[in-house]
Amino acid sequence: MNTAVYPGTFDPVHNGHIDIARRAAGIFDRVIVAVYDLPQKSLLFNTQERVAMVREVLADVSNIEVSSYSGLTVDFCRERGAHTVVRGLRVISDFEREYQMSLTTRELAPEIDMVCLMTSLQYAFLSSTIVKEVALAGGSVSQFVPEPVSAALRARLTHRTP
Ligand code: ADP
Repeated sequence: MNTAVYPGTFDPVHNGHIDIARRAAGIFDRVIVAVYDLPQKSLLFNTQERVAMVREVLADVSNIEVSSYSGLTVDFCRERGAHTVVRGLRVISDFEREYQMSLTTRELAPEIDMVCLMTSLQYAFLSSTIVKEVALAGGSVSQFVPEPVSAALRARLTHRTP
C-alpha cells in the first residue's frame, strides 16, 4: 500500500487544503492528513478541534485518514509506514520553504520523499491566516471554507474576549 502523509497546521482547514488532500487521495492508496500538534505560531483552534474539522470535511473520501501528531514529521511517517510527504504550493515564497523542508527531510530520512502539488488557480491566494483575518473583521468566509468550519469560526470569534 502506497501511503502518503499530508502534514500541516490546518488552523483552520480551508478549501485550498481540501483540494490538495482530495487530489493526493487520487494519487496514493492511502493519505493521512496529519495535524501538527504544537506549531510555533499562535493558534485559534486546539488540536482536537482542528482534527475534528478536517475529519468532518473529508469524511466522504474513503482512503483519507486524519490524525494529530507531535515531533518530527519523518518520525510520524515512519510510524505509519509512509514514504511520501505531500505539501501544497501556492506562490514562489512557498517554494523556498518547501524546498528547504524537502532537503531537511531527505537528510533526516533518505527513504522519504516529498511531493508538492500545485494549488488550483482559484485557491492560489487562500491561507488559514487570510481566512482568520476576514472572519475577525466580520466578513463572510463561506467561499473559502466549508460550512462546518465557517460555523466554528463564527462561534469562536463571537465568544472571544478582546
Ligand atoms: P503549515 O503551517 O505546515 O504551512 P498549513 O496548514 O498552513 O500548515 O498548510 C499545510 C500545507 O497546505 C502546506 O504545504 C501549504 O503550503 C499547503 N497549502 C496551504 N494553503 C494552500 C492553498 N491555498 N493551496 C494549496 N496548498 C495550500
